[in-house]
Parts: sequence; C-alpha cells; structure tokens
Amino acid sequence: MKINQNLIIPNSNNDFEMVTKKILDYKKKNPNRDIISLGIGDVSRPIINPIIKAMHQAVVDLEKVKTFKGYGLYFGDDSLKQKILENEYKTFGFSKEEIYISNGAKTDTTSILELFDINSKILIPSIMYPIYGIGAKCLNRKIKILNITEKNNFVAEPPKEKYDLIYLCSPSNPIGIAYTYEKLLAWVNYAVKNKSIILYDNVYESFISTPTIPHSIYEIPNAKKVVIEFRSFSKKASFTGIRCSYYIIPNDIDANINKIWKKRVMNRFNGADYIVQKGAEAVYSKESQLLLQKNIDYYKANAFYLKDSFDKLGFKVWGGIDAPYLWIKIENGMTSWEWFDFLLQKLNIIVIPGIIFGEEGDKYFRVSSLGNIDEIKIAIERLKKYYEKEI
Ligand code: PLP
Repeated sequence: MKINQNLIIPNSNNDFEMVTKKILDYKKKNPNRDIISLGIGDVSRPIINPIIKAMHQAVVDLEKVKTFKGYGLYFGDDSLKQKILENEYKTFGFSKEEIYISNGAKTDTTSILELFDINSKILIPSIMYPIYGIGAKCLNRKIKILNITEKNNFVAEPPKEKYDLIYLCSPSNPIGIAYTYEKLLAWVNYAVKNKSIILYDNVYESFISTPTIPHSIYEIPNAKKVVIEFRSFSKKASFTGIRCSYYIIPNDIDANINKIWKKRVMNRFNGADYIVQKGAEAVYSKESQLLLQKNIDYYKANAFYLKDSFDKLGFKVWGGIDAPYLWIKIENGMTSWEWFDFLLQKLNIIVIPGIIFGEEGDKYFRVSSLGNIDEIKIAIERLKKYYEKEI
C-alpha cells in the first residue's frame, strides 16, 4: 500500500490551521479574555424565513409516499436551474444543459480541473483564495503562480506566455476588490487568443454595488467561448452550513464539453441535497430578494464602517466596496504573523495574516465585514484606544 503523495501537503504553517491553533492556545492560557474576530469568513446573519419555510415544506414532502424524493437529478433540479438562469443569467441565453447545481464552490473550483488534460498549464494569480493551488496540487496538476502586488493594485494582468487554465476571483477574496469591465476584457481577449479557459470564481457577486462592475464575466464579448463561471448560495443566502452552489459550462467552449462533463458528474456525484435545493429556489421570490438584500446591506454597512475606521487610523486599505473583505497594509515593519500575534495578545482581536493568501501577502492582513456590528465596534474601539495612547 502506498499513500497518494499528492495529498501530502508539506506543512508550511502559513494556513488557517495555524490561525486556529494560535487562537486555541491563547484561549487555553487566557480563558477569561473577550476575543473578537474580525477575520471570520463565515456569515453571521441567519437564513431568512421564506427559505426556512421552503425547506420545512421539503422535509414534510419526504414523509409521504406521494411526495417522497430519493436520488435526485445528477446535475440539479430543473426548477432551480430555471430560476437561476432567469434571475441571474437572463440575457446570456444559456440552456439548462449548461448549468450544474452542486454542493459548494470550494469543491467545484477544484473538481473542474478533471475536465482538462492532466498536463494543462495552470496559472494562479497570488494573492488569492488558497484552495486553487492546494486543490490543483492534490490532483497532481502543474501550476504557475502569477504574483499580484500593490504596484498593479492587486489586479492580475494577462501574461505574455500561454497558459491553458487561469483562475480568476472577482469580487476577490482576500483583496475585496472587483475586476472592471476593461480588466475582464483583457483576460477574455487573452484566453481567446491563446485558446485558454478562465475559471472564474464569482461567489461574491451579490456584494457588487459599483454600477460599472460586471455582475457576470459573460457580459464581456466572447466570454462564452472561454469561461466557466462559479457561483454559490453560501454568502448571498447564508448557505455556508447547508451547501449549494452552481456553475456554467457554456456549449460555446466545445460542442462536446457538456456531454463529457455530464458523464464525469454522473460517475462521481449523486446530485445536490433535495431540501437544500428547495431552499435555494426560495431565494428568488420577491420577499426573499428584499430580505437578502437587507443582509447584504448589513455586511456592506459593516465594511463601510471598517474601511472608514481603518482609514482614520492611518492604514492603507483596499476593498470593502464590492466584496465583504478589506485588505490592509501593516505599516510598522511587522510580518503578518507578528501583527496577528500582537493583535491577538495585546488587543484580543483576530485578523487573518496576509501570508496565508500568498508570499506577497506578508505585509498585509485581511479583515472581514461578515461579522456582527456590535463586536466589530468593540474591536475598533480597542484599536482606537491603543493608537491614541501610542500618539
Ligand atoms: N471561493 C471563494 C473565493 C471563497 O472565498 C469561498 C469561501 O469562502 C469559496 C469559494 C467557497 O464557497 P462554498 O461555500 O460555496 O464552498
């Protein structure tokens, strides 16, 4: 017996596991401290009532012979697909054959690599959601890191060399910015010219509020020929615990692409959860849309407050307008772990060290607006008091 060596990721200590370990160690030694997390990437608003009601009804269905559901469709409920296409992709003319319902964009953005040749050259801009690199490594794929830095405002520019697959994340975790039409156009043109495919992670789409930012990359001419777009109900409808995502593989990429991928899905996945898909359908009622917008507005108000507070404290801040994350520079010479330790131990505040998202991130930290405003305010007060004393 030999273990799959691709699954053995050398322990870099620059990961979320280390964040958790440090927090637990500190809590053990200091059990009475009131620790506030500004790092949390999970949502804090509960699931809205119309969705809960729809899921209740789905549970009731399961009790009766007439309405009971066993295995569902491999690629998702037709009614949910229809709702997504009508509400989110209306102008693009996709058919139900081109959309897949799944159980999380984390899984989807890695699994999709199996659609492409094992020797595909994969480009991953870094600083970036770390799962792209780890997922590719576990599937024994070759990756190249494209460093994105403050110089290009943390936006990846197409390189001169040809790559087969490119990960792009917009609105981005962790930088919290969204790609403009022009930047996306440059990438789509690159992909058309090089016959590449863009794997476009758009899970934070519902946070876009700048009118000129495209909500879907398919707004760019020719994108249907070169892009697979991923979205999720996790952040927009608080589904982080109940799991439902979706993605589009346009037929325009290749006449057979969906036939091939459908075979793979059938052999590896037995379809998304019935109850959860019923909940997801309820996302699109008028009542739900209003309530969900309130949740998004809540997080956006948090982001505004955080951005304003860190600005006033003299930090350089990116993001927080079209995404629930802020990317902030550490100006005092500390590394991102030193800054993490300092905030945890001195002010009992948790942030996420930038190094977790790539080497270039070591002079930065990530703050999230997905938490509770009362706690966020206490954390900011602690920071203000600390800096007043320092001055
Ligand atoms: N992609 C990005 C950029 C994320 O930040 C996250 C979660 O934080 C995911 C994907 C995972 O989403 P899901 O909950 O649908 O698996």
